[in-house]
Amino acid sequence: MLPYHSMQQAETALGRELSVAEKLWFSYSANKSDFILDFHNFLFFFFFYSLFSLPYILIDLIEWKKLTKYKIQPRIKISFSGMLRCYKDVVVSSFLVFGPLQLFSYDILKWFGIRTSLPLPCGWEVLSQILIYFLIEDYVGYWLHRWLHTKWAYEKIHHVHHEYIAPIGPAAPYAHWAETLILGFPSFIGPALVPGHIVTFWVWFALRLMEAIDAHSGYEFPWSPAKFVPLFGGAEYHDYHHYVGGKSQSNFASVFTYCDYIYGTNKGYRYQKLISRKDLKRGVKWNYNHLHGSSVKQFLESY
Ligand SMILES: [Zn+2]
Ligand SMILES: [Zn+2]
Repeated sequence: MLPYHSMQQAETALGRELSVAEKLWFSYSANKSDFILDFHNFLFFFFFYSLFSLPYILIDLIEWKKLTKYKIQPRIKISFSGMLRCYKDVVVSSFLVFGPLQLFSYDILKWFGIRTSLPLPCGWEVLSQILIYFLIEDYVGYWLHRWLHTKWAYEKIHHVHHEYIAPIGPAAPYAHWAETLILGFPSFIGPALVPGHIVTFWVWFALRLMEAIDAHSGYEFPWSPAKFVPLFGGAEYHDYHHYVGGKSQSNFASVFTYCDYIYGTNKGYRYQKLISRKDLKRGVKWNYNHLHGSSVKQFLESY
């Protein structure tokens, strides 16, 4: 809750006029407790998960050729009821995992030093903090994901997420409850080390969720971020990880690919890209489905 009774009082305390965004924040949050503001994380997860997944569900449902031509594994089709089941499973398991956490997450965020008051952060503060969060999350997430591919962790936990050989947008958070906790943990390290405003925290989680859904969408569009952002993994990169499956020792990165480069866990993917480039030169339009039953697939599985 803001420590000001009126906008005038806030302006006097800050020694300047409030910006438009700050006036909006004041109007919205002045009478809401910090616990309620923190509860927004819980609601935003379900809201953004539904909002960002919906376009990909619709593209598959309508089978709009202008867009389905960008599908990475076109032979594998998941029915509407299959997508709905995935969506329902994610909503139910997320509710069961995040629900109890929500009871004490407010105290944790407060302990991190995340603030809810005025002034709002400037654009540069939000951008730089979110970049740091991405880099930290990537590094820790990479090693946790590698651990999830050890025999025990894969068989007990991670195999659930890999049920989708050709992933779909709503399957991004589809996982064993323990994986939801394990891979959710790195998302909080950045905000704990470099705490900011709760609005930054919300933007961070919305962007991370949007990125995860894009990476699992099964579509590599000409406007996908991977085409413009250096070292950004994207859908094709993560699709390869799902395609190879449990034996995959490649493409562990969640967002940026630098860890896979540094630790040499992208060799199989690079080999596949080499083959696809050669095929393209011969006029063969290539996708992962060409690998089924081939010795190339066996080769890739060894990475
Ligand atoms: Zn995996
Ligand atoms: Zn995945």
